Amino acid sequence: MGVMSQRAIIHVDMDAFYASVEVRDDPSLAGKPVIVGGTPEGRGVVAAASYEAREYGIHSAMSAFRAKKLCPHAVFIRPRMRHYSSVSKQIFAIFREYTPLVEPISIDEAFLDVTGSLSLFGPAEEIGRTIKRRIRETIGLTASVGVAPNKFLAKLASDLEKPDGFVIIKAEEAISRLAPLPVGKLWGVGKVTQKKLISHGIPTIKDLRDFPTGKLETIVGSQARRLRDLANGIDNRPVAVGEESKSIGAETTFPKDIYDAERLMEVLDSLVERVAKRLRKEGYRAHAVHLKARYPDFKTVTRVVTLPAATASTKKIQETVRELFEKRLDRQDRPLRLVGVSTSQLVRAKKDELELFPDDQEEQREKVDHLLDELQKRYGSQTIWRGKRRAADKD
Ligand SMILES: [Mg+2]
Repeated sequence: MGVMSQRAIIHVDMDAFYASVEVRDDPSLAGKPVIVGGTPEGRGVVAAASYEAREYGIHSAMSAFRAKKLCPHAVFIRPRMRHYSSVSKQIFAIFREYTPLVEPISIDEAFLDVTGSLSLFGPAEEIGRTIKRRIRETIGLTASVGVAPNKFLAKLASDLEKPDGFVIIKAEEAISRLAPLPVGKLWGVGKVTQKKLISHGIPTIKDLRDFPTGKLETIVGSQARRLRDLANGIDNRPVAVGEESKSIGAETTFPKDIYDAERLMEVLDSLVERVAKRLRKEGYRAHAVHLKARYPDFKTVTRVVTLPAATASTKKIQETVRELFEKRLDRQDRPLRLVGVSTSQLVRAKKDELELFPDDQEEQREKVDHLLDELQKRYGSQTIWRGKRRAADKD
């Protein structure tokens, strides 16, 4: 059996975060089905649903219209992202009192590596409990917390007794805790892979562990080894320190579904403009570029590409998104109701790092982009535009 990682990892995940913040701020909402997201009259989706709303089968990414049908008396609230982000900052400030090794997964979820903090603050369980209590007492919200020797097990643990959960998985009990769980609980196993595995008689993690490695490769390809490791409770991924705003993106839901590829590309281009501008304004470059598309039946797909060098160049991101759209989306001329562009794996773009910049042309592009940003600020965005701006493209 492989060597267990000796880390002490805590995974904290806030419960129904946006909805819980709204309930905290307006106690008259307590106990009610609360939905944060688009209005049922519009074409938006559920961003977060309180646990009372979830009892009606409502979940995030469902259309607000459908949510309203499932629970007509639900309270619909428009999201206040700025507010949630300031609450998130308070929560992350608590994390950083216990370790500098904090990896944000989203606005309300993070991994903490407390291996180096044990001598100062006591066992990981104790740190986890203290953080959970402090979030409740000082922020007024509940979190689910998992404590384990690695990221995979810690995330799994925090999910086991959600909401308001606290679960410890010790290295020596990892295998027995994992055994009965469905293979879908393994990191990276989505619905498609899960179905495939089940069809080969591998419904549980124990089944996967017992399956011959060679045969497993014929089913899941190069993933086989990683899945085998996870099934044995092994995950050596380090906690990667980052910033709260793990991604910067923009998306738009159309008033009417759009078929026309050219028109869709125009919208994507203008979304990229906004995203790249925000990256530069906040001093980031991104390693990963994501394209999101939603079909009229709400099926939502995302495509992502990781670039060899981080970028904040509008042109580079546009090229990347165009390629994802044309080569990877497989839209087959179906209409779309939403498209989105986002960037992740952000790194700080420090001025003194410019010398180390791997691509001169890239650097030049970014300088031009910065200049354009400045000019647009001064003269307005209609005056200056990058490349050919079509008359129809107003935003
Ligand atoms: Mg959460």
